[in-house]
Amino acid sequence: MLPPEVLHEFSKSVINYKKTGYSILELPHRSTAFMDIMAECTALVKELCRIGDDFEVLWMQGGGRAQFGMVPMNFLGPNDVAGYIDSGHWAAEAAAYAMMLNKNTSVLSSTKAINYCELPSINLKLPAKLKYLHLTTNNTIYGTQFSTIPDFKVPVVADMSSDIFSVQRDYSKFGLFYAVAQKNLGTPGTTMVAVRKDFLANQQTYIAPAFSYTKHLQAGNLLNTPNVSGIYVTLLMLRWTKQQGLAAIEKNNREKAALLYNAIDANKTFVPHVKKTSDRSLMNVCFTMNNKDAEARFVKLCEQEQIVGIEGHRSVGGFRVSLYNAVTTDHVKTLVEIIEKI
Ligand SMILES: *Cc1c(COP(=O)(O)O)cnc(C)c1O
Repeated sequence: MLPPEVLHEFSKSVINYKKTGYSILELPHRSTAFMDIMAECTALVKELCRIGDDFEVLWMQGGGRAQFGMVPMNFLGPNDVAGYIDSGHWAAEAAAYAMMLNKNTSVLSSTKAINYCELPSINLKLPAKLKYLHLTTNNTIYGTQFSTIPDFKVPVVADMSSDIFSVQRDYSKFGLFYAVAQKNLGTPGTTMVAVRKDFLANQQTYIAPAFSYTKHLQAGNLLNTPNVSGIYVTLLMLRWTKQQGLAAIEKNNREKAALLYNAIDANKTFVPHVKKTSDRSLMNVCFTMNNKDAEARFVKLCEQEQIVGIEGHRSVGGFRVSLYNAVTTDHVKTLVEIIEKI
């Protein structure tokens, strides 16, 4: 979901961007107007994450999977070692990309055997000389989330695609973090990447420019044409996020998630995928139902209230309700009323 204010502002700019007489869809990527959009996006990310000029921010294409490939390409030489935490579908795919490129890379802990219904342990004794540790802060498909991340003493690379700006975190302690825009930051086709300069200093030099973080930075994020209108939607989302404030967003997200989990836990027809409450995601609530008739009624009532797209991933089945930042408590209350009727 996107907030109505964002949709409204974007729709105005499609017809006439800031009274210039042209559309945001026509804005040239080398125009001053677009430079200003990217600069404001970067400044807002730094402000929201409380990170300073020791970080660089990039606005990239290729989605999550491009990052799954770029991270090992940029940071792993043939003799380097990286470790991956396998907490779900996306985490496993990120690890698989790295293992294709580097034979020393391994999965350090995983809950695949229990269909990811819990988080794997991250209190690990790490292998020596780890170049980085990769983890996924929120597991979109299974509905688990790391609420705290220990101090690993090695650079941590995090996929924050489905929970960026949903809770307050100490972003300064990551070596690199990335998030696709299509969850809490706008529309598909844009990925935010924040990387610490001292971590980036160890980048490999023999990769093609389009896959090199350093080359993108040297080109001022204009190595190839960025997703101009998509980055503008992200700017509107970042302004909205700042206006709400991360503390208020987190409070709201906790309230939304509590309402929904309580309703599911109180109704025996609903079976939560994640039983351990401390592992539960604030963003994605996954459950199945143990009664086919009740399930059909549930789906029908949801459709009547325009609650759509809540079917779960094929590996879990059932339902996945996403409570991204723009979803309101009232939206959740509508769903809770339906759950109580089943
Ligand atoms: C949605 C999502 C992705 C998306 O990857 P794409 O390649 O852009 O489809 C990656 N990681 C996580 C954790 C996600 O939730």
